[in-house]
Amino acid sequence: MLPVIALVGRPNVGKSTLFNALTRSRDALVADMPGVTRDRHYGVCRTGARPFVVVDTGGLSGVEEGLDVLTAQQVRLAIDEAQVLVFVVDARDGLLPQDRSILDELRRSGKPIIVAVNKTDGLDEQNAMAEFAVFGIARTVPLSAAHNRGTEDLIAAALPLLPEELQELAPEQDDGIRVAIVGRPNAGKSTLINRLLGEERLIVSDVAGTTRDPIRVPLERDGKRYTLIDTAGVRRKARVEEALEKFSIIKTLQSMAVAQVVVLMIDARENLSDQDLTLIGHVLDEGRALVIAVNKWDGMDAYQREQCQRALERRLGFVAWAKQVFISALHGSGLRELMRAIVRAHTAATRELGSSDLTRSLERAYESYQPPLVRGHAPKLRFAHPGGTNPPTIVIHGSRTKHIAPAYRRYLENFFRQRYKLEGTPIRIEFRDGD
Ligand code: GDP
Ligand code: GDP
Repeated sequence: MLPVIALVGRPNVGKSTLFNALTRSRDALVADMPGVTRDRHYGVCRTGARPFVVVDTGGLSGVEEGLDVLTAQQVRLAIDEAQVLVFVVDARDGLLPQDRSILDELRRSGKPIIVAVNKTDGLDEQNAMAEFAVFGIARTVPLSAAHNRGTEDLIAAALPLLPEELQELAPEQDDGIRVAIVGRPNAGKSTLINRLLGEERLIVSDVAGTTRDPIRVPLERDGKRYTLIDTAGVRRKARVEEALEKFSIIKTLQSMAVAQVVVLMIDARENLSDQDLTLIGHVLDEGRALVIAVNKWDGMDAYQREQCQRALERRLGFVAWAKQVFISALHGSGLRELMRAIVRAHTAATRELGSSDLTRSLERAYESYQPPLVRGHAPKLRFAHPGGTNPPTIVIHGSRTKHIAPAYRRYLENFFRQRYKLEGTPIRIEFRDGD
């Protein structure tokens, strides 16, 4: 399971710049997709030896009043959920009194702290660091987040501080299909899980007695095995308010990292929210297969249903490959179709592709439509081979591939998607230049 690192510090010290440097995804999968919103506060860093969740806590001024108190509570929640705290300070401002009160706060948590002295570009690093030596924290690293300098050292300092294993969610052999059910509070996640469990035989083994979040819920349905990754604590939830308190992007990210297929539940009676789109952005970042469960379909009249479908079509065009299933978790309708969509998405996501076949498909795609010339030269695409599954990854070797436009990447994606029937899963295309 993914460990969590929180970035904490005064406003304007460079936390969000550092966050961006750490979470920049390996390819432009999400950036290329109009309509996807990025989450400014939560992301996954994959550049080090071990991936982890990064939380940008926003500002903590050290003195909170009024509205700031609310923000401060959110920050404290993030500190609670993190295993390592990165305290970002500004080398140009030097040490300010607020820094001291923030540090006191961080120390109270008892968690390991790294001091990241940011904005050292153009300064003498040793001098810049010396001022913060009074903190007495040995793990102090110089940084220039804006120039992406020092981030590797920061990661190297942080990784050994993370707990060795957060093991309870590690995949196991007889898991079957690992499914994360995510969505906003009140979308109907617990109703769905309880409905699924109530209808079919529940393999009780490790459900009872598990008190720590999150848990794995084994499920067998129509002779197929699944493991539901329950990070919302839905099995134990008693009241609706509890759902609101328990909604945690961190847990959602962790469950996605473990899952193979993500079911995003949305409430048909509510407009699609930015948060739903943000969740989809995370699914794409993680490369997970996606099924969209449009819940509370019961009691809607024909007009309302049509309005809802239109809106989904308009706003979810960028994930048109994700199956939309209309269900009522409450009444149990549409669940068979939902499970079928999960199985299909899983099959597509884990499909093994062969090198020679991929290369032949690439040739065909290239012949029917070539990438536009770059200063008189056409980018060449020579051969392809598989680079992994879940998501299916296709590595394409050629020349001048840097210049291939997002539109051409999408063309190839669609081509491969149709050729291999990769419905329900994102596809990752990686270009490598041979010369
Ligand atoms: P936050 O409020 O802590 O999230 O700070 P931001 O990331 O928004 O950065 C505040 C300002 O500092 C912005 O104008 C950044 O461009 C600038 N900044 C961030 N990192 C660096 C850095 O490494 N060097 C310099 N010179 N400026 C930086
Ligand atoms: P969660 O926060 O995502 O786990 O949502 P819950 O499962 O707790 O559901 C929130 C509310 O929506 C509860 O009052 C449910 O009874 C209701 N609900 C869930 N599914 C449906 C559905 O399919 N139809 C209707 N009408 N209500 C539903």
